[in-house]
Amino acid sequence: MSRTAKAVLCRELDRPVVVEEIEVAAPRRGEVTVKIGACGVCHSDLSATNGTIQMQLPLVLGHEAAGVVAEVGEGVTELAPGDHVVSSFVHMCGKCRWCATGRPHLCDSAAKTLYTLPDGTTPARDRAGNPVYVFSACGVMAEFATLSVDNLVKVDKGVPLDRAALVSCGVMTGVGAVFNTARVEPGAAVMVIGTGGVGLNVIQGAAIAGATMFAACAACSLRHAPAIRKNPAMISTLEAMWKGPT
Ligand SMILES: [Zn+2]
Ligand SMILES: [Zn+2]
Repeated sequence: MSRTAKAVLCRELDRPVVVEEIEVAAPRRGEVTVKIGACGVCHSDLSATNGTIQMQLPLVLGHEAAGVVAEVGEGVTELAPGDHVVSSFVHMCGKCRWCATGRPHLCDSAAKTLYTLPDGTTPARDRAGNPVYVFSACGVMAEFATLSVDNLVKVDKGVPLDRAALVSCGVMTGVGAVFNTARVEPGAAVMVIGTGGVGLNVIQGAAIAGATMFAACAACSLRHAPAIRKNPAMISTLEAMWKGPT
């Protein structure tokens, strides 16, 4: 069945977001409706509201959520009502060459799901019946959302939803950068520039990876990063920090 839900929408760039009631369609084949329990506010949401990330408007924000499956569409066997899930802002078809080789973040269908479901439709309508698009095929800053089953990951019911939500973007990005991109090794020295949701999880990931020396700067230091790169004295200071007392 379709559901009425309060949702956070961006209707115009560089304007405050609005909370509106929307109609969320019932799940079709391969889709799942989720009752959202918690949703993080990510910098990418802000980037959609100021045009840094170009999305079709009006747009339901949110891609970092956890919730409980309310209803599944035809053909969905992986999930059942009552299961706990987190949203994935990357659609993972599970069949293309990238998904098959363990790199679902490069899934061939990801480019088709920037602000719609994989078939180019949106499950959300505003009160006037006009289509409302969904951030990264999620649009989970809402009480209910209908997503492709390939944008959902089942999680343990013992994990509180407000914690699980963070895994779907900040933790995944930060810890993923440590293990998959930087490939931090035990004993490594790690410098983190920017200590927001992602940066804090880089620090946690580096600790899990066994890094022993850390240097972290707050986000406001980001603009100084080029200066760090061009400043030999600062680099040698940081290197001395990393080496520790001799
Ligand atoms: Zn995010
Ligand atoms: Zn794929």
